[in-house]
Amino acid sequence: EDTSTDIVIIGAGGAGLSAAIEATNNGAKVIVVEKNSFMGGNTNFATGGMNAAGTKYQEAKGIKDSPELFYKDTMAGGHNKNNPELLKVLTEKSAETLYWLESLGANLSTISRSGGQSADRLHTAPGGVPVGGHLMGVFEKKIKELGIDVRLNTKAIEILSEGNRVTGIKVQTSKGQVYTINAKAVIIASGGFGANQEMVTKYRPDLKGFGTTNQPGATGDAFAMVEKLDVALVDMKEIQTHPTVVPVKNELITEGVRGEGAILVNRAGKRFINELETRDVVSQAILKQEGKTAFLVFDQGIVDRMASIKKYKDAGLLKEASTIKELAGKIGVNADELEKTINTYNEYFEAKKDKEFGRRVLAEELTKAPFYAVEVGPAIHHTMGGIKINTNAQVLNNSGRVIEGLYAAGEVTGGVHGGNRIGGNAVADITVFGRIAGQNAAKYVK
Ligand code: ADP
Repeated sequence: EDTSTDIVIIGAGGAGLSAAIEATNNGAKVIVVEKNSFMGGNTNFATGGMNAAGTKYQEAKGIKDSPELFYKDTMAGGHNKNNPELLKVLTEKSAETLYWLESLGANLSTISRSGGQSADRLHTAPGGVPVGGHLMGVFEKKIKELGIDVRLNTKAIEILSEGNRVTGIKVQTSKGQVYTINAKAVIIASGGFGANQEMVTKYRPDLKGFGTTNQPGATGDAFAMVEKLDVALVDMKEIQTHPTVVPVKNELITEGVRGEGAILVNRAGKRFINELETRDVVSQAILKQEGKTAFLVFDQGIVDRMASIKKYKDAGLLKEASTIKELAGKIGVNADELEKTINTYNEYFEAKKDKEFGRRVLAEELTKAPFYAVEVGPAIHHTMGGIKINTNAQVLNNSGRVIEGLYAAGEVTGGVHGGNRIGGNAVADITVFGRIAGQNAAKYVK
């Protein structure tokens, strides 16, 4: 049945729910529509953490960091293609947004590091709890508490407009009913298009046949809906592959495993890259190896330090052996070379210097049995490009004009990550800009 509200939000992932909570707290009446039967989208799969600079947790550990350094790292990681204004907002609001998440009930007090960062600024939930599930638990509780109207199994199929102003959306339920939600503002938070093979290969023919780590609903529905509004799109070709995804099973092994000390070896049993390089660099390096895959190799020490690894073990993804030689046999890798590689790596650890690949953080030695390995290769992970927004999360058209009442946040937008997203920046992006979209839409409808 047709209905009316102040703000309608498309997508109940991290960006949409951040916007919904913030808009409600700013006095607006909100409806969220979600096409899946559950909330969370790709946010459910976020394993690592949230990058934030200059936090009290960093300070307590004596870590020197600042929004400026965070900006510099992200700009370098994104090949200088990031939108400077958007990136400035992301980095300057990161700490404040982390505290906001904690005010809702999150705990992101543990610090580690993701690839491409020059300071430890990845804030994670204690005990290696994956950040996505943790935040979704917090969001869903808050949504209930605030009594926000979230409609599951409800897909947005059209954005309605009059001239240069949006007036609501048309939705279709999973049972086939179609109705209109009239609204003074619309926030698009429908995520990326990493599960839409056709759209991915339209922009990037070279990614044909790649697996994907995305939820099946990450089909980029919004892009067809905004076409008639002449919405500007940016960086559509910038599609990130994640380097450590288990082939066929499409299970992602979190970057934190490398952060904690795992190495990557090829079938010759040799390392071939600084494992903490950015995702694009590591992905390309793996594709150059025999079989276009590699093996993540680590020891029990990492498993002890990272509770979240247990789930890979439970899922039967890891090969396990009591010696390195035995492990090499199980994965079909040259055993003498693998032993030599690990001994050399341990020497680098002792010397605090990776003489071959310049890996900065050599977390620990790999000495504690049992030893583990998992075959990994790159798969489509994140679509960096998308809808063009300004720093108020307002959507712009191809003439650079703001479309009245239309906002967007999260993976559906482009510009924040430039040519390569740094691990830990998706959560920062969806929460920082989700909040901004919610705040500004609430102001607009008043
Ligand atoms: P972000 O990280 O930007 O929040 P997510 O992937 O976590 O993105 O969340 C996006 C959500 O939007 C997903 O739950 C997805 O199912 C939902 N979604 C995508 N397209 C539509 C649509 N047409 N109508 C309603 N919900 C949608």
